[in-house]
Amino acid sequence: LSFIKRRATQLFTGTEILNEDWVLITTPKDEVLEIILATEADKTDVLVFDGIISPGFVNCHCHLELSHLKNKIKPNKGLVNFLMDVVKYREAPIDQIEQEIANAESQMIANGIVAVGDICNTTHSLQQKLKGNLYYHNFIETTGFNNNNANVRFDAAKQVYNEFAKFFPNSSSIVPHAPYSVSSNLFDQIYNFLPNKIVSIHNQESNDENIFYKNATGNLLKLYQKFNIDISEFKPTQKSSLQSIGNYLTSAETAILVHNCDTLQIDIDFVKKLHLTNKTQFFWCLCVLANEYITNSFPSDSLIKNNLENIVIGTDSLASNNQLNIIKELSFIKKKYPWLTTLHLLKFATINGAKALQIDAQFGTLFKGYKNGIISIKKFC
Ligand SMILES: [Zn+2]
Repeated sequence: LSFIKRRATQLFTGTEILNEDWVLITTPKDEVLEIILATEADKTDVLVFDGIISPGFVNCHCHLELSHLKNKIKPNKGLVNFLMDVVKYREAPIDQIEQEIANAESQMIANGIVAVGDICNTTHSLQQKLKGNLYYHNFIETTGFNNNNANVRFDAAKQVYNEFAKFFPNSSSIVPHAPYSVSSNLFDQIYNFLPNKIVSIHNQESNDENIFYKNATGNLLKLYQKFNIDISEFKPTQKSSLQSIGNYLTSAETAILVHNCDTLQIDIDFVKKLHLTNKTQFFWCLCVLANEYITNSFPSDSLIKNNLENIVIGTDSLASNNQLNIIKELSFIKKKYPWLTTLHLLKFATINGAKALQIDAQFGTLFKGYKNGIISIKKFC
């Protein structure tokens, strides 16, 4: 039997950072056997790495099926224009869509990503996922702001769900797109859908959705007009979007709130209360490079400070990011929030994400028997 012995400047186990006094011992297939002091290890054949060794990364928010939109949408035009552009450009020949999905997956693998929470509006990504190169949780996403359409929209999502659930019964859910694109009837159906152990929603990506929920005014009106969506039945709630719809997420065990650029302390407190009353674990997903691309607004310092154990990382899609690369996300986060430590950042990208996707028994830490990818990182901040 042969072993691989690795030493690094920093050995990140998923919970702590050990220094170069420690040696990680694995099988040749990278299954973790133990972590021991270098003084106790046989000194021969130790691979020494100048940098960080870590369990593989968890990308909690991606849209693989938008990969063919790389470089199609101009940056910095705001959320409403971005959404209109996605609709405008997303039609394409299926072989092109599938090829770009395969390329995007290869890119994630090359960048140390081992598990992905992936948004699906179609079955376009299913063939690639069946190859089993990465772990995926499939978030089948539905939209429909008109209460009368809720059944039709939910049934359509259910059909896509059934295709995924045939192969991934324990890692597929039906989820709402965003507070401003899902009616209360459709939210009800999602809430009551029993297989939904994990949900995800685009949350407060721009302040437009708070403005719309409070007063039924603002930029989103342009979107409804453009797509002929009748909003005459919508009643403003005088509350933020998150406070208006948060309860619909509480039938799930974990809920991933994505973006959170215009989330205030009152929203954070609201989510803490939701957790205490319903037991749902909420995770705040940062997609800062996509934020830079679309709105140039970012989550507040206090959102991150208040939720260090519940922050996870997403790349979003190639429609709003030049690459699917967690290291690039972490470097940008470090620039924006310089008070974060390397340990915080690495936990966001590994164990926290694994908990959000409920895969922390297989991913996110270098426990004995872990076999889902060991990566080495040169200094990133
Ligand atoms: Zn997204």
